[in-house]
Amino acid sequence: MSHIKQTYKDPVCGMEVSSETAAGQSNYNGKTYYFCSKADKDAFDRNPDVYVVKTIKEPMPH
Ligand SMILES: [Zn+2]
Repeated sequence: MSHIKQTYKDPVCGMEVSSETAAGQSNYNGKTYYFCSKADKDAFDRNPDVYVVKTIKEPMPH
C-alpha cells in the first residue's frame, strides 16, 4: 500500500505544506492553495494576485 503525501507550496512564505498539516486552504482561479498558518491564509485572501503571480514560472505567451 502506497502512502504518498502530497505537498503543496505555501504561496505566501514558500514553505512546503501537506493537505493534512495545512492550517488553512483557499481556492483561487480554480486552484487550491494550502497555508502553514492562518496568518498566511489571511494575507493570501486579502491579496491573492500578489502571491499567485510570484509562483507562476511559465513564460508569458505572446
Ligand atoms: Zn506559510
